[in-house]
Amino acid sequence: MTASPVVIITGASRGIGRAIALEFAATNARIGVNYSRSAEAAQKVAEEIQALGGSALLLQADVSQAAQVETLFQQVMAQWGRVDVLVNNAGITRDGLMIRMKDEDWREVMNLNLDGVFYCTRAALKIMMKQKSGRIINITSIAGVMGNPGQANYSAAKAGVIGLTRTVAKEYASRGITVNAVAPGFIATEMTAQLKQEELLKLIPLGRYGEAAEVAGLVGFLGRHPAAAYITGQVFHIDGGLVMG
Ligand code: NAP
Repeated sequence: MTASPVVIITGASRGIGRAIALEFAATNARIGVNYSRSAEAAQKVAEEIQALGGSALLLQADVSQAAQVETLFQQVMAQWGRVDVLVNNAGITRDGLMIRMKDEDWREVMNLNLDGVFYCTRAALKIMMKQKSGRIINITSIAGVMGNPGQANYSAAKAGVIGLTRTVAKEYASRGITVNAVAPGFIATEMTAQLKQEELLKLIPLGRYGEAAEVAGLVGFLGRHPAAAYITGQVFHIDGGLVMG
């Protein structure tokens, strides 16, 4: 890996994606900050990256759209000529019980949370194969491991990401590319702000929500640390002990 790796993070304008961007910024990385709507927030993240000593490139793209993903990767290649780390982080929820779930709520979640990972991973692999190196980290969820009432769409997409992670890890290991998944439990971000904390906290052995920075620390290790070079095809739970085994 180069001294100043090129890292693309989808959905980096807030929450876990922003924390991951700041984690890499502290190690002198060049960071592609993707967002779809929150231009102002993404601009602030870019400034924070620069203040920490990293470089930032703002990348507006809806990563559920294949053509926009192609443009995003072209922009990064034009600017920096390589991609060392891809973090597939962008994700949404459209919760509802299965019998009442609207087609569009199913499709929207699958389009971003699964198709988006497919588009970005395929684009990154083409570049990483030529480099004979690269690391891909997919942000899935414990909902994709154990299911969650009201999240049939979300947990199906996140379980799909786990299957994709393991398959791509096997397909490209011989090319020096590692692919892993990180499955957070309940992390304090806008996504979880509406949930009823009290009941959930009883289920979490460590008795609290996780911090975005804690997830980012694990992603930073997998994406950057030399000791992570021998880890591929794994799913790491970071959930205060919610899922064990
Ligand atoms: P968040 O605070 O809601 O942030 C979501 C990010 O995704 C934003 O930067 C948003 O940017 C971006 N985004 C949304 N639609 C997009 C699109 N079509 N194209 C590109 N970017 C898009 O969410 P979070 O809690 O940080 O979650 C980040 C990831 O962790 C997600 O994959 C989520 O499923 C996963 N996760 C979260 C938790 C948790 O407890 N928070 C638990 C398990 C897994 P714009 O505003 O610009 O659209």
